[in-house]
Amino acid sequence: MFGFRRIKIITPLDSLDISSLKSSKALAKKHGSSKLVVSTDDLRINLNEISSYAMRVVATLQKHHYEAYLVGGCIRDLLLGKKPKDFDVSTNATPEQIRQIFVSNSRIIGRRFKIVHVLQGKEIIEVTTFRSNKVATSKPHSGRTRVKAESGMLIRDNVYGKNIIEDSQRRDFTINALYLDPVKKVIYDFNGGLYDMQQGVIDIIGDPETRYSEDPVRMIRALRFCAKLGFKISRRTLSPIKKMASNLNAVSNARMFEEVNKLFLTGHGLQTFRTLRKYNIFELLFPAAGELLDNQNYINFVEYALSSSDKRYQEDKRNMPHFLYAVILWAVFQKRMFISNQTYNSAVVLVPQNKLISGLLNDIITEQNRITDMPMAVADSIRSLWRMQLTLDDIENCNVDEIAARNIFRASYDFLTLRGKFEPYLKNAVNFWEPYYIKSKELADKRKAKKEELILGRKARKKEKLAQKKRAYEEKLASKKAKRKANEESFDDEANLSAKRKKQLEKARAWRAAMHLDVK
Ligand code: ATP
Ligand code: MG
Repeated sequence: MFGFRRIKIITPLDSLDISSLKSSKALAKKHGSSKLVVSTDDLRINLNEISSYAMRVVATLQKHHYEAYLVGGCIRDLLLGKKPKDFDVSTNATPEQIRQIFVSNSRIIGRRFKIVHVLQGKEIIEVTTFRSNKVATSKPHSGRTRVKAESGMLIRDNVYGKNIIEDSQRRDFTINALYLDPVKKVIYDFNGGLYDMQQGVIDIIGDPETRYSEDPVRMIRALRFCAKLGFKISRRTLSPIKKMASNLNAVSNARMFEEVNKLFLTGHGLQTFRTLRKYNIFELLFPAAGELLDNQNYINFVEYALSSSDKRYQEDKRNMPHFLYAVILWAVFQKRMFISNQTYNSAVVLVPQNKLISGLLNDIITEQNRITDMPMAVADSIRSLWRMQLTLDDIENCNVDEIAARNIFRASYDFLTLRGKFEPYLKNAVNFWEPYYIKSKELADKRKAKKEELILGRKARKKEKLAQKKRAYEEKLASKKAKRKANEESFDDEANLSAKRKKQLEKARAWRAAMHLDVK
């Protein structure tokens, strides 16, 4: 049974009444749950930072008599004064019920979890039905089962939760389990999350080993939030990670690809890299690169690349996964090429045979795919990027204009300049290709501008077409009106009416007079 106690906090997060928060956390520890309700005004949360569409989705669900809250990262970020990057909604409506409400702009997605995406333009609000941590009693194949593999890992986790508390307990960390009701303007905390927010602590909900067994990804999520927020990881959350990290091997490689992207491409790559190395997790994610971790040149190269991509992220520029993988595994490719050259040629030749390179590229990508299943396009781009490094470094033997015209040229040049910072012998090549890069960039920018112009033109034409349609409709309406008026006028001209119509008119006038209606 849960022990509930309602505590009203009236101070903002940075000067909240610590003893109330602390006692709420202690209650949650003791009973598995507590209840704290704090008004958003007291927390000085700026509700204007919340997407108006997300607010509407919550309000619409509530209008249909469902419970609905904003939850997860967006609340955490709001409390930290950061602009949330997306908004998740949690509700007691089932995916099908949600679909019925947002008929024309929603879709059910997800294999692992069934969730609903409610869309408005480019904005996607992820709406999730309350879930539970408990093993379901419902029949298998009912679509509502929570299936565990022998390792304790959840294979299918679609047990609906009875209520918000159950939903909060299936979440990973206390700071990710805060619920905001934007209509009532309150935050609900059932796990001492506000206390942990205040203390800057990442604390897993429930028994750490069980939660990591259910889903090993939670271990890297803990490290990701530690790097992203600069929070400490609580001792009980951290301590099983070293022992259990190898469980990550059991996670599907498709999911791991997504998680690794989140780790490195969302603005905190450098800090995440350091944190992962600290806990020996990096080598589990990139086994081939593991042996390079005591090479400071390698570390410097990767760190430089990650800090550049963090900067790009802050500037709202896109970071591409193939570039990340190309950076992390480049030294592996170089090393293996060096060894192959020594094996196959008596002298060290920098450009080995085509077949040899293809074999090496494929081996590295196949090995990495066992951990993070890269989409084909990503793997192909890595191959092209690396092959181009060999070409760009061999100016005498390449068709310069043809190379500069390739799609992958600019990314390859970026990669070459990055390498140039750590491999000084590349200076000549970097200088040689620079004017081609500038020209290619100018051309690309022009093409982009033209494309945008075309799109704008298409949009303007579409707008004009709509306006024309509207005008035509209005004209038609006006002409109908004019016709009706003319008819009414000719109605008065009784000379033009048929005998039958005249009789009808007389009858109508008599009736209107009898009813004391205003008859002229
Ligand atoms: P970010 O801002 O980096 O996206 P987030 O907390 O929003 O962080 P998401 O991956 O978007 O992270 O997940 C949304 C919410 O879903 C989390 O805040 C957490 O409550 C819950 N969640 C996500 N992944 C897990 C997991 N593996 N186990 C339990 N709960 C999870
Ligand atoms: Mg999120």
